[in-house]
Amino acid sequence: MKKLLLALSILALSYPAFALEISYPASTTPIINSKSTFFIGNTDTSKPLTINNSTVNVHKSGNFAYVVNLEEGKNTFTIKSGDETKVYEIIRPAATKCSPVKSAQFVPYDEKKSAIVTSENTPLRSSAENFGINRLSHLNEGTPVNILGEYNGFYKIELSPETYAWILKNQVKISDEQFSPAKILNFSSSETPEYEIYEFELSGKVPYTLLENPFTITLYNLNNNDGFFKFSPFYNHRQFGYSTGFEGNKFVLKVRKVPNINKNHPLKNIKIAIDAGHGGKESGARCCSGILEKDLNLKISNKLSQKLANKGAKVIKIRNDDSFVSLSDRIKIANENDAMIFISIHGNALPDNLNPMEHSGTSIYYYYNQAKPLADSILNNMILSSGTNDDKVRWQSFAVVRNTNALSILIETGYLINPNDNWMLEQEDFQNKLVDGIIKGIEEFLTLY
Ligand SMILES: [Zn+2]
Repeated sequence: MKKLLLALSILALSYPAFALEISYPASTTPIINSKSTFFIGNTDTSKPLTINNSTVNVHKSGNFAYVVNLEEGKNTFTIKSGDETKVYEIIRPAATKCSPVKSAQFVPYDEKKSAIVTSENTPLRSSAENFGINRLSHLNEGTPVNILGEYNGFYKIELSPETYAWILKNQVKISDEQFSPAKILNFSSSETPEYEIYEFELSGKVPYTLLENPFTITLYNLNNNDGFFKFSPFYNHRQFGYSTGFEGNKFVLKVRKVPNINKNHPLKNIKIAIDAGHGGKESGARCCSGILEKDLNLKISNKLSQKLANKGAKVIKIRNDDSFVSLSDRIKIANENDAMIFISIHGNALPDNLNPMEHSGTSIYYYYNQAKPLADSILNNMILSSGTNDDKVRWQSFAVVRNTNALSILIETGYLINPNDNWMLEQEDFQNKLVDGIIKGIEEFLTLY
């Protein structure tokens, strides 16, 4: 045993201790197409750190972030900490002179064409742009649509004689079959202890749109006079999640009722999905300290799950260890377990052209308006409990937040590439305060009414 220990210690001594670790850029010869980038990493605080002879401020934890400008071609950076030296050669590609892009023109068809949506969850958009803010709904596979023409990679879809929308060309297939407008055969509503359920039996699938304020669903391609049917099932009550879509030819809207909240134990029996971002082969961002985002996310998520469970919540952990879970599986797990609240935990990073020293704090993202009051309540309480900077509640089209039926949010706990944020996020005490803020925020949101 002693011999083994001796051998191990000699082995350890024979390797120099590298105090200087660079977390980003990930390689010493990267290609970065930006006017600037940054070095982030961790070093020995007792030695001065320089990049091309300029002194770099080092946080007390050893974390650092330093912005450098890039010229076109090769940029050499020599990083020195004591007698350790690392050399980076960053290539910034020369700007390509692009020929002026011909502005695409709308091409109308002489006659309407029939087509069928080819994949589940196909976005129907209000404009011919592949960007999240213009989604009107998500259509089911097999929904027939009428096409008026094409523009910018999209088909223009006729919803009613005066209403149209757009679908990416590769998400529908032109069909020779002519589709006649659908009939509403039957309508029924029912309830369960948790849901109000509205069902429209139709003679076929139809495109539809969904607006949140006020909550309105419009079914199109109908054989009535207007060619559409508008439906607003509830007016003043707060929304706690819903789902829409076709089951065969039946359009089903499921709306979660306002839950009965016990004011003394607001979290009791509330189903909350906790989604630790990334995992397995997908590490997420790398902290200044070298720690991976996926590990930090899991640690904070596990604390959150444990504390929520202690308060009586029914916690659905999307991942419990360092395993890879696809985005679609994350959504499926939350929806199948009927989560009422979905919280995805992440850490923030920045693109090359921004300065990590100028960004700090916690931000929360939502997609559906129904989740904004929850996001506001949680961020306020995280700021109060931990002193984290207010990096705002923002709208963003993240898949896990967009496709879950729950009140869904994504929390960027802090900037992993900001030396101080990174250090704070690794402190047990700070993690607990963030988690306490999240829980207080959910409790306040639930007891507001
Ligand atoms: Zn992330």
